[in-house]
Amino acid sequence: MLEDKDRIFQNLYNDAGSDIASAKSRDDWKDIKEICKKGKEWIINEIKTSELRGRGGAGFPTGLKWSFAPKEIGSRPHYLVINADESEPGTCKDRDILRFEPHKLIEGCFIASYAVSAHKCYIYIRGEYFNEGKILQRAIDEAYEEKLIGKNASNTGWDLDIYIHYGAGAYICGEETALLESLEGKKGQPRLKPPFPALIGLYGCPTIINNVETIAVVPTILRRGAKWFASLGRPKNTGTKIFCISGNVNSPCNVEEEMGISLKELIEKHAGGVIGGWDNLKAVIPGGSSMPLLPKQVCDNIKMDFDSCVENKTGLGTAGIVVINKDQDIIKCMARIARFYKHESCGQCTPCREGSGWMWRMLERMAKGEASRDEIDMLMDVTKQIEGHTICAFGEGSAWPVQGLLRHFKKEIQKRNNFDPLVDKSKKIPYLVDQHLLDK
Ligand code: SF4
Repeated sequence: MLEDKDRIFQNLYNDAGSDIASAKSRDDWKDIKEICKKGKEWIINEIKTSELRGRGGAGFPTGLKWSFAPKEIGSRPHYLVINADESEPGTCKDRDILRFEPHKLIEGCFIASYAVSAHKCYIYIRGEYFNEGKILQRAIDEAYEEKLIGKNASNTGWDLDIYIHYGAGAYICGEETALLESLEGKKGQPRLKPPFPALIGLYGCPTIINNVETIAVVPTILRRGAKWFASLGRPKNTGTKIFCISGNVNSPCNVEEEMGISLKELIEKHAGGVIGGWDNLKAVIPGGSSMPLLPKQVCDNIKMDFDSCVENKTGLGTAGIVVINKDQDIIKCMARIARFYKHESCGQCTPCREGSGWMWRMLERMAKGEASRDEIDMLMDVTKQIEGHTICAFGEGSAWPVQGLLRHFKKEIQKRNNFDPLVDKSKKIPYLVDQHLLDK
């Protein structure tokens, strides 16, 4: 278990205040001038050495991302954009940073802006986080008053302005290029990549986009040293992480723990255990609703870090852990998630727009026991036709949970729908032609 002295977020439960005086008592903004004096190269290298990976879901190495920004400012300004559009079901970690540790984020914004040569930073926050946005704005105002940001920020000679922008409630605006479109005042729809935002991003200018938690841990890494951060967890899976534990547990919570902690320990020690006991566990979604679920036998031993999750055919994602016990109807749960993705698809790509509806409708039929025998294979086929065939990763995000269900709970679907798996399955429905029949 992580020792208290190694916790980055000392005020995760708001035991102390979120104002600047309280933040400074937790060492926020300490030695900020000295850190910047060491130079942009040093900052980027230190973040690379720490092996910090993005905390927003994709897990891309942060130092590497920063190094993609052009070294010098050319004819176009650089921007830093913070993704605070936390919309992944099961995830609420950035919310607690925004309202209880806003100065860690603002300080991180300053350091990251300096490192990537940005004079403007936009924090894109979901509209539902209105109260969190007010607290964040108050913290930004405090930082301006103390001259920590603004003109000649923290006496470093670097100018930085930070602006908050509220989203309007679309899940897809958490995808970085859709976020940029939304920030520019357009419809929030993902862009094709390349070009990547580091070269052509906001208003066509070099833009680095990072998640709230990623940026909020940066000041502590630089103060305590990359080696300290890298000593936690294991190579390529370093540091601490805020895990959000919800669902059928006795005490749902957010907790900062060392990367690589076992899932069982997280649930048992921090969330008060599964309702009905560990043996009543059915499955866990380990990284927000877009990641494939894991059955109990995998949950018994899995470690919570990026690589362990991939080895078990899932992903750490946002570390939004949703616990599902045996009192739940797992097929219905997945149908509900599929409905969410059907609703949130931006509609640009046919496989995602149409396929997400297909998956939802088929899962609803399976949950009611009304599916035809071939539909299980057909459902898997639909997920495969979405995966890898869309503009953005939303396609995978909608297909993977369904794949997880089919991988681990196929027998349950067969039983519910009275299929005998041994019966010849050669008869196939020509579903590509007869979609309208299935829709009825
Ligand atoms: Fe939109 Fe879905 Fe295509 Fe992403 S994958 S661009 S959400 S239609």
